[in-house]
Amino acid sequence: MSLAVLPSYISRENIGPWHIFLQQVEKVAPLLDKSLWPWVETLRRPKRALIVDVPIRLDNGEIAHFEGYRVHHNTSRGPGKGGVRFHQDVTLSEVMALAGWMSIKNAVVNVPFGGAKGGIRVDPRQLSQPELERLTRRYTSEIDMMIGPDKDIPAPDMNTNAQVMAWMMDTYSMNQGRTSTGVVTGKPLSLGGSLGRPDATGRGVFVTAREAAKKIDLPLIGARVCIQGFGNVGEASARMFAAAGARIVAVQDVSATVFNAAGLDIASLKRYLSEQRTLIGAPDCEVITEDAFWAVPCEFLVPAALESQINQFNAGKINARVVVEGANGPTTPEAEDILAERNILVIPDVLANAGGVTVSYFEWVQDFSSFFWSEDEINVRLERIMSEAFEAIWQLAAERQLSLRTAAFVVGCSRVLQARAMRGLYP
Ligand code: GLU
Repeated sequence: MSLAVLPSYISRENIGPWHIFLQQVEKVAPLLDKSLWPWVETLRRPKRALIVDVPIRLDNGEIAHFEGYRVHHNTSRGPGKGGVRFHQDVTLSEVMALAGWMSIKNAVVNVPFGGAKGGIRVDPRQLSQPELERLTRRYTSEIDMMIGPDKDIPAPDMNTNAQVMAWMMDTYSMNQGRTSTGVVTGKPLSLGGSLGRPDATGRGVFVTAREAAKKIDLPLIGARVCIQGFGNVGEASARMFAAAGARIVAVQDVSATVFNAAGLDIASLKRYLSEQRTLIGAPDCEVITEDAFWAVPCEFLVPAALESQINQFNAGKINARVVVEGANGPTTPEAEDILAERNILVIPDVLANAGGVTVSYFEWVQDFSSFFWSEDEINVRLERIMSEAFEAIWQLAAERQLSLRTAAFVVGCSRVLQARAMRGLYP
């Protein structure tokens, strides 16, 4: 690397999600058109990153401080776009990587956004609803200079939802002195949200899995599916797999791993989890160990939780035909090599989970035009974008003998860097 001064976050010690993103860029760089090589460095550096202190008054009168982040990885193709995550393990490295993956993902499905992400290092389960609201509002105020409908548009991610988006929208709007619905997506329907948005990521996961199944002649009817994470993405995709005739044989979340060889009843599992807040004791299933989950024989394994869940320690045990990455960054590069050797197909995050941001794009367009579409229109357009993106990446992978991830990165990085090159350097 011919750099005068190395940025602080590029070091051998910085082995975190950002490092994984850098490795992925490194791998794809030589495959890009030569004309883009001078611009590759753009991808190795986030455009801007903000760390904020988020102090809130707790219900007991004490003051607590949390660390928050908002990162714009790249805005060459349009305003920043990406979710906000509340989790006790959030770090700057993680948010930088998630922002980088958003740049690639948005380019893969060709929505006119750059890549951004935000987060707060907090365990939201420890906060009451009023504390969560104060946290969200203070965070939104602290990142106010970074966001806006034509600047950077946050959305839900892990542990954030339509209510959190409503508070963000209201806080931004109060500070601006006018209602600005397009500043966030994933809002409630009553505040300019879009039909189909809650299920969109899970739907995209299902559509890409279905398209892959067609390519490898794998029938969906009777296919066994294992799902890690039973939140917005995991639950919706489980429901859609089940509706297509597949059997969800194992589900893992933070509370437990449940198994039923004949297939779990997703609706009753969801009901049980929302009432009991744990999967332990759910009807008609057996609790198995966290580790045993990875070895459950299945056709589709859907990691839909945190990063690096499939790693060098469990990749050798996985007994699936296809891994569909509902989460962002669930497979480490070492694990990816192991899966490739074992002939397990991986549908990468930047393609498989792009359904969420695709419908976020629809929501943003609807907010701008104040004209709202039917759920059918949303789902038909989503299906089309996801299956076309899948087909293009499948073709490229076949033509150039690449993995689907590398092919997706070739498409995504090329689109970002073409825009970057066309814009040129200022001044
Ligand atoms: N958080 C989601 C993701 O990782 C959605 C982002 C968005 O809609 O902006 O793709």
